[in-house]
Amino acid sequence: MILSTVAELFSSGKKHTVVEVKGWVKSFRANRFIALNDGSTLKPLQCVLDFETMDAALLKRLSVGAAVHVKGDLVESQGKGQTLEIQVSEIVVLGEADPELVSKTILQPKRHSLEFLREQAHLRPRTNTFGAVMRLRSSLSFAIHQYFHQNGFNYMHAPIITGSDAEGAGEMFRVTTLDPKNPPLTESGAVDYSKDFFGKETNLTVSGQLEAETYAMALGKVYTFGPTFRAENSNTSRHLAEFWMIEPEVAFMDLEGNMDLAEDFLKSVIGYILEHNSEDLIFLEERLEQEEKTKPQNERSPMRLTEKLNFVIENNFKRVSYTEAIDILRNSKPNKKKKFNFQIDEWGADLQSEHERFLVEKHFKCPVILFDYPANIKAFYMRLNEDEKTVRAMDILFPGIGEIVGGSQREERLEVLKEKMAALDIPEEELWWYLDLRAFGTAVHSGFGLGFERLVMFATGMNNIRDVIPYPRTPQNADF
Ligand code: ATP
Ligand code: MN
Repeated sequence: MILSTVAELFSSGKKHTVVEVKGWVKSFRANRFIALNDGSTLKPLQCVLDFETMDAALLKRLSVGAAVHVKGDLVESQGKGQTLEIQVSEIVVLGEADPELVSKTILQPKRHSLEFLREQAHLRPRTNTFGAVMRLRSSLSFAIHQYFHQNGFNYMHAPIITGSDAEGAGEMFRVTTLDPKNPPLTESGAVDYSKDFFGKETNLTVSGQLEAETYAMALGKVYTFGPTFRAENSNTSRHLAEFWMIEPEVAFMDLEGNMDLAEDFLKSVIGYILEHNSEDLIFLEERLEQEEKTKPQNERSPMRLTEKLNFVIENNFKRVSYTEAIDILRNSKPNKKKKFNFQIDEWGADLQSEHERFLVEKHFKCPVILFDYPANIKAFYMRLNEDEKTVRAMDILFPGIGEIVGGSQREERLEVLKEKMAALDIPEEELWWYLDLRAFGTAVHSGFGLGFERLVMFATGMNNIRDVIPYPRTPQNADF
């Protein structure tokens, strides 16, 4: 006898072998069938048994949500919709689930709203939707590591606690062991962080980029893939306070190379799930189809989920300079009719999500890479162009998501970087180690940051970022 997962049983396709499987009861049907799910695949395994001849005490313990151990023959199914089923010879209830309690949870087999599922985040991975999303999330992270591994990158673990706040001023979570009720004070009455655990102020990282740069300038090609934290109080469907970021950084690579890398990388990982996760994708596609029907016609997506994913891997991303984009936006219908919340009047304006989505969804109708942004709306470390007005930045915009990637060629000239930091009041003492990079064998280098959950949103068609991470952290919400 072999203990198998449901996925293994289905893919082995073998019949008439005695098998054992453990999982949870998903639903009952016609006094003869149990749908058993163990999370290995979307499809439940049909277990056939005769309830009428079963021991009453056992039957009572056998309810929706219960954990069970099933033994029996794996045979070709008589019914429609499934290939194989188990003719059960023995069933053991490993853990009961009180029907009274189950009826108040998302485990009762019927359609629930995503909001209701969020309230029971500890149970939602048992639903079809979250099972599918989480298997895809796992598969995508594997594809990401595989892509970098196959392309000669080293996986670098950037620190999570950081002593510099140059990048995230105002948006960082403080890390401290001081007593909030009675902190040590300096003579002037401020909190004395020299008495804190690290002897200085420390925070949770908002990005591993600066540290990744130092490793790229030693190992050549590196990437980080870890949690990042932002205390931005933007309660949107695309922002989390804790999210996972992928940040490749490459020595001797310019902005063109950076765009090529990002595009090839995104196509590759999306191609991976199309090849390996079709069952879950098709389920989510149908779910989305139902959801779309509830929207007004003009807000519905013109493409099905898998069509959209295939479209991304088959078409070149449109590369457009910021300056060209501003021209397009300025002359666009919504701008002229004052339909944007933020009017685009002149060069230099920061683009809002509504503008990004107009460019991607209405104008170009494909993923767009915007590059060469005005220096004063982008970070200090981005390479200044010869025009001295723009920097070698690039953002990748995806339909339905807006910004999915933000990257740049980094300023490699020591003097230019120092001037930039001085202009922004970033003290050199704080980033002396980062400046050192420019003093010891400096070179052109580039990289980007991809928000992992934004990618998972795109890949699964989920509209709210809270529904693609196991335990979302957002303002006023860190339950579980
Ligand atoms: P946005 O304008 O959408 O807030 P950003 O400009 O702050 O993004 P970057 O600092 O460039 O973003 O971060 C790189 C990537 O990380 C973004 O392209 C996005 O995919 C992702 N990202 C940024 N902030 C968040 C967040 N709060 N939650 C989830 N993903 C995020
Ligand atoms: Mn942001």
